[in-house]
Amino acid sequence: MSVDTTAPVAGAIALAAPLAGWSTPLDEAPDAVFAARMMGDGIAIDPTDGTLHAPCDGELVLIAAARHAVTLRTAGGCQILMHVGIDTVNLRGEGFTLAAAQGARVRSGDLLLRFDLDLLARRAPSLLTPVIVTADSGFRILRRVTGRGVEVGDPLMDLLPERSAAPGVAVAAAGAAAVQRAIVGFEHGIHARPAALLATSVKSLAADVRLSLRERQANARSTVALMALDAQHGDEVEIQASGPDAALAVSALAAVLGAEAAPPAARAAPAGRARSVTVAAPAAIAAAAAGASDAAAAAGAELSGVISSRGLAVGRAFHLRRPEIAVAESGAGAAHESQAFDRARASVRSRLERRAAGTAEGAGARAAAEIAAAHLELLEDPELLAAARVSIAQGKSAGLAWREAVRAAAAQLATLSDPRLRERVDDLLDLETQVLVALSGAGTAPAIELPGDAIVIAGELLPSQLVALDASRVAGLATAAGGATSHVSIIAAAMEIPALVALGPAVLALRDGTELVLDAERGVLEVAPPPARIEAARATLKARRERAAAERAAAQRECRTADGTRIEVFANVGSAAEAAAAVRNGAEGCGLLRTEFLFLERESPPDESEQRAAYQTIADALGGRPLTIRTLDAGGDKPIAYLPQPPEENPALGLRGVRTSLANPPLLRTQLRAILGVRPLEQCRILLPMITEAAEVAAVRAVLDELRAELAVKQPIEVGVMIETPASAVLAERLVTIADFLSIGTNDLTQYTLAMDRGHPQLASRLDALHPAVLRLVEIAARAAAARGRMVAVCGGLASEPLAAPILVGLGVHELSAVGAVIPQLKACLSRVTVAECRALAQAALAAADAAAVRVLARGALGAGAGAPR
Ligand code: PEP
Ligand code: MG
Repeated sequence: MSVDTTAPVAGAIALAAPLAGWSTPLDEAPDAVFAARMMGDGIAIDPTDGTLHAPCDGELVLIAAARHAVTLRTAGGCQILMHVGIDTVNLRGEGFTLAAAQGARVRSGDLLLRFDLDLLARRAPSLLTPVIVTADSGFRILRRVTGRGVEVGDPLMDLLPERSAAPGVAVAAAGAAAVQRAIVGFEHGIHARPAALLATSVKSLAADVRLSLRERQANARSTVALMALDAQHGDEVEIQASGPDAALAVSALAAVLGAEAAPPAARAAPAGRARSVTVAAPAAIAAAAAGASDAAAAAGAELSGVISSRGLAVGRAFHLRRPEIAVAESGAGAAHESQAFDRARASVRSRLERRAAGTAEGAGARAAAEIAAAHLELLEDPELLAAARVSIAQGKSAGLAWREAVRAAAAQLATLSDPRLRERVDDLLDLETQVLVALSGAGTAPAIELPGDAIVIAGELLPSQLVALDASRVAGLATAAGGATSHVSIIAAAMEIPALVALGPAVLALRDGTELVLDAERGVLEVAPPPARIEAARATLKARRERAAAERAAAQRECRTADGTRIEVFANVGSAAEAAAAVRNGAEGCGLLRTEFLFLERESPPDESEQRAAYQTIADALGGRPLTIRTLDAGGDKPIAYLPQPPEENPALGLRGVRTSLANPPLLRTQLRAILGVRPLEQCRILLPMITEAAEVAAVRAVLDELRAELAVKQPIEVGVMIETPASAVLAERLVTIADFLSIGTNDLTQYTLAMDRGHPQLASRLDALHPAVLRLVEIAARAAAARGRMVAVCGGLASEPLAAPILVGLGVHELSAVGAVIPQLKACLSRVTVAECRALAQAALAAADAAAVRVLARGALGAGAGAPR
């Protein structure tokens, strides 16, 4: 729960809760437009009752035609948008009953709207109701109540007027003027989401921009004004702009309006202008606007995103759009629809089975096979099937029944706090499409003809969309939304396709064919950069390809620094196939087997024999090389539904890692027995996650000793401790008295040291394990290990960064356990530096101010090539 309790401030507006429910941060809204605060700041309420009330006195300036969103303006000009549920515009008013009219003056607490909670729960992706102080209001939130239940009228937010004028209202009118007409392509007209996209597209431009439709006119920076235009799909609006960036602003808006208009097949045509016409503009302005269509998306602009698959790509923009498949409301009889449904599922099932059993080489194909297996499970999900069958029996078409069942399940997932689970919504929607395509008789979605070197652009990508693309033509991926841990990101990384996610709506306004440099190392998409930059990027790619080939050829040699010091380079693996691939890449062992892979996506834990068999297959695939088996690291970002765990407000700080194992003794005993059954046992060592003190290690050791006696296992087995918490790093000198080795998990160590959630999309770019604070903790642990003669490894993500490898070695690390594909590069990088150079670099890094400074130092010391993934 978070309630800010600073003293009241004069002039603040007090907002009361407009509906009863659970108040939560806006970030939880499963819609990037709200979560990224494109409409403005606020909170979201998960309603428990179907009434919406006025949060303060004011005038109802806007009620959406679909009755799902209401905007109230206070006497001081502050606008509060209340948007009941997500994507509820699609209901076209069904389930909503107004209790007040647009233009009415209301008092705090007055009833505004009734909504049918059950209907929304079934038909909308989420009930979460954003309560937003619109960005153009000129007010900021001083305090807010989140993380607890609220009743109507409870204090919710206190607002304070900004000292300066509302952002973006005053724009120098000097300079050119531009006018253009465009067709509204948004399926449901300009409702909340399109309004936010439009306003965002002109936010940084110096121009006064207005949209006119019939007698109404709206400031394009004002989401409320844009919604009030009441512009519907197909309406032709006029865009007028004046000021230095007028032409850019006009074409940016036209592109956003038109980008939604073009059907998938028409994507080869420039998106923004396919359905917009330039009128009434002097020739010079028209020319500027036409040229600026490239420039609007261009002018050397850089769009910032989150890296989901590292690398560099040069290519041209190609928009990929998910076809919206129309489904009939009612069916042709329950028996007929039922048969059609079964036939469609059978055809999807056989395609998925073929893909899941696929034996194609390459990590991308393997990832696709694993994801197909996950989709197969979903296809057979009894709850989904039951829900669809009930609707079919009630007379709905098979398509609608399936769509509603899937969307209701997706809506539930979307409200979960774990971003990894939320990202599984994509898998459900993907499956929805596959079954609907099969129902339509089309068999598979029509193949998409990609141009060569395509940088594929989408709002969000689904796994099946990516897998269906001709990978040889995909240079990179750039999505407006999405998360770094989604299945699509995993496949992209496995296929070594550079990818950026969360680039924001501006990426959707790029025209097809625009030249792009996708730099998924800096996290930016360079729009139409100068020819010299494109040439340089191409040269870099060529040099990397040549170097990679040479490094792969040398990867089977053991890793040594330039002065001959031995550093072991191991791999993190999650399956026998990955272990075999890692060995081919030169892995000298496995430094981290994440055993969670065996426990996830099932209803009960694997028994001893299943676990032993899985560990044995991986040990065999490693061909006698060391295998480090980490005990179950459940909880936090890896929840396991069937474990008896109480609900936690903050799972990252709750029962996770070794705490879960110690709280479930049978679970721990079964896992340790399974590990003790692997042969030869000398190949294995055990690693304990999330240790904070020696007592936890002692407790596990006691169980282990008991089991060794029970199973008559004579030989000892090494037990290591993960250094993932600041506590364990600081206490490392104690831990090494009871642990045989240390392995540093930089992913969690960084999250806990920097107090930044490792799954937080907005903090992703700052969550850098090269932060000097993290490095200092690594040094403390490594010193402690050295004093006791213990080996210290790094198995977190930092070990997969060639740029970091010399720093880690300089801090005293002996073993790196990395993603298999980077092993050749890691070995090559370390072969070029001496330990003395590594130490000097490490000392400089420890003294640096921040992670960015460490990266500059490392690049300077090692040359650009050291940190350049391919
Ligand atoms: C880590 O935290 O760095 C680590 C290796 O563990 P995981 O990523 O599985 O939490
Ligand atoms: Mg961890």
